[in-house]
Amino acid sequence: MTITPLMPVYPRCGVRPVRGEGAYLFGEDGQQYLDFASGIAVNALGHGHPHLTKAIADQAATLMHVSNLYGSPQGEHLAQRLVDNTFADTVFFTNSGAEAVECAIKTARRYHFANGNPERHTLITFDTAFHGRTLGTISATNQAKMRDGFEPLLPGFAYAKFNDLQGALALIDDTTAGFLVEPIQGEGGIRQASPEFLQGLRKACDEHGLLLVLDEVQCGYGRTGKLFAHDLYGITPDIMSVAKGIGGGFPLGACLATEEAAKGMVAGTHGSTYGGNPLAMAAGEAVLDVILEDGFLEHVATMGDRLRQGLEQMIPNHDHLFDSVRGTGLMLGLKLKSDSRAFVAFARDHHNLLLVAAGENVIRILPPLVIDESHIAECIDKLSTAARVYVPAADD
Ligand SMILES: *Cc1c(COP(=O)(O)O)cnc(C)c1O
Repeated sequence: MTITPLMPVYPRCGVRPVRGEGAYLFGEDGQQYLDFASGIAVNALGHGHPHLTKAIADQAATLMHVSNLYGSPQGEHLAQRLVDNTFADTVFFTNSGAEAVECAIKTARRYHFANGNPERHTLITFDTAFHGRTLGTISATNQAKMRDGFEPLLPGFAYAKFNDLQGALALIDDTTAGFLVEPIQGEGGIRQASPEFLQGLRKACDEHGLLLVLDEVQCGYGRTGKLFAHDLYGITPDIMSVAKGIGGGFPLGACLATEEAAKGMVAGTHGSTYGGNPLAMAAGEAVLDVILEDGFLEHVATMGDRLRQGLEQMIPNHDHLFDSVRGTGLMLGLKLKSDSRAFVAFARDHHNLLLVAAGENVIRILPPLVIDESHIAECIDKLSTAARVYVPAADD
């Protein structure tokens, strides 16, 4: 037997965290790491945030789970707060990002079905998109590394180039349901939609009776310094998937929609055993309490500007390695001139700095949203020290 008890689908590294505190993780062996990966944009409040941990502990002792067959005062309350603070009129809670996207896809298909147009079932999605690992969500990307060997995939997706508005519009036909797009692609390499592109998709939806479905699982929930990334563009979606930061580390996702877009989602059309249970709602409430505090989003934007400045000032000193900075707020990417995975491993193993590699040889820098200037200085210091001694492999 050579297979590991944990199914070996992740190339796991040597860091083995057992404890977290704010922006730091501590390994089994006592090593301390600066965590600028945040569980891939999940630990928005850092590790061990007292308001979040207390809310979870209290709720766990009070009522953890009941069936969605019963009334949900907890779910109604959080859904109402999300409705009050967004474009949405209604919310479905899930346990993950992929489930939130699944619900968004189903909601979009069902909208056209309810309108008597069941043939309008195709969502136009974009290259290097990432929407999750379920069969539905891997069908919604054209990235071979996620799809190979899992065919037959779900029909009903067409693929256009990201940021190519004309290319996307050219794919619209009688079967089109709408567009599914990340305002800022995370896994794809912190690729940010241009205003013309996202606003153009919105306009096309309005003209053709299509739905704009935004996947804000990674770029949403305060990460850009706005509650949602689409707030940067002056547009709103019809349907949106949210997860990662929304639970601050507790598994929670949500599909938000307007009343019109959700018109097909009547009783019996969708469900989830765990989705929106009281424990998850307590976590979601606690995160939202903090994110909606006066000045919180401004703090994210300010820290994002500082971090970006620090990165930009560092680039000329290491221009054999670093190319440019991209992204917004605390969703930043540092583009490398060589393999980003190798440098992420080097910074981790030799400088105790945790980052995430992404497409296009970009390093994702996704710190907890609660960091201060000292963490930024420490990150820049670790990055430049690492860059000074790092030698890219010859075949990069
Ligand atoms: C992480 C991610 C998902 C999938 O979320 P899971 O919780 O892993 O299912 C979907 N969309 C985007 C944009 C993501 O970054």
